[in-house]
Amino acid sequence: MRWDTQRLDADESTTLPGMPTMRGLLRSVQVPEFPGLTFHEVRSKSALNAVPAGSPMPFRWTINPYRGCSHSCTYCYARGSHEWLGFDAGRDFDSQVVVKTNLVDVLRRELARPSWRREHIALGTNTDPYQRAEGRYRLMPGVISALAGSGTPFSILTKGTLLRRDLPLLAAAARDVPIGLGVSLAIWDDELHASLEPGVPSPRARLELVRAITDAGLSCGVFLAPVLPGLTDRRADLDAALRAVAEAGATGVTVVPLHLRPGAREWFSAWLAREHPQLVPRYQQLYRRGATVAPEYRRWLAGRVAPLLEQYGLDRQGGGEARGVDADAAPAGIPGDGDSDFPAGSLPRAAGTGTGPRQERPVAGPAAEQLTLL
Ligand code: SF4
Repeated sequence: MRWDTQRLDADESTTLPGMPTMRGLLRSVQVPEFPGLTFHEVRSKSALNAVPAGSPMPFRWTINPYRGCSHSCTYCYARGSHEWLGFDAGRDFDSQVVVKTNLVDVLRRELARPSWRREHIALGTNTDPYQRAEGRYRLMPGVISALAGSGTPFSILTKGTLLRRDLPLLAAAARDVPIGLGVSLAIWDDELHASLEPGVPSPRARLELVRAITDAGLSCGVFLAPVLPGLTDRRADLDAALRAVAEAGATGVTVVPLHLRPGAREWFSAWLAREHPQLVPRYQQLYRRGATVAPEYRRWLAGRVAPLLEQYGLDRQGGGEARGVDADAAPAGIPGDGDSDFPAGSLPRAAGTGTGPRQERPVAGPAAEQLTLL
């Protein structure tokens, strides 16, 4: 989303130094509880973002409470979008977090419009709604209440264990509207985890989050993502990961190889050259066509993962049944496939429409923003 669409009016005079176009800025703050982070609090003109027409995503609307992400994943697809705000895609993305402080009020207004069709809204498609800033700003409880109260189905994808705080609220919301929850994890080696995703809760903590979600009676799909060629794709690694995911009670799993979109590509490549220079030629070959890994690798990964998914009851046919969940609740994981494949449980069961009456005109939204997945 470009900030042009977020401008409040020409009278807004407060802007960030060096970023004269960031209208709506209220203040920039640094607080002792979040060392190294700067929060740029803005008033947002809109809460709902339209997904570009023709997108393969199984939803038409998204909400992103924050821009930038303190989880700081080296491979993050969303890095490039930070440059649209006048920040860089590297350290600034990790440390300069824009907070839409009036998000809940704006959202409630948009959801109350007669034109709102109560379509599925996805959170966590660009940056993580349960990153560290959420501990301070507590936007998600208001978002969840607004969506459930308006009869709007929704999904949340996160790496943030802070979601546990909102489990009672989510369980209550699930009684009113269809919801889906997804957790992303892939790296099991502690050293690699600390190096590649230094701000993210540990894989063990995220597995416990999956367990906590399912213990609360909610479905939870796991994105085993990103799988890193030559680093996390050994059979033993994938076996351990999928066994742990199944044991945590995940409803389904999708295995996604690393994507290297502009922004992430430069940042990740610098990390690879520094930490694993021997892998650079291989990555250049695998990503010779751009952001997506070469088809032969996808086929190889699919072949490696398929028997493991079957072994742990996470395959398409077995999807969720071993854990007492309807297999047709959502698309099951397809190993090695693309962004549009969502694991069972990560989407609302009746994705697409809500519980309220359908209207003809869609709500007016800002320019569609680039979609990424955590
Ligand atoms: S991949 Fe997700 S959790 Fe990691 S930095 Fe990007 S938005 Fe945040």
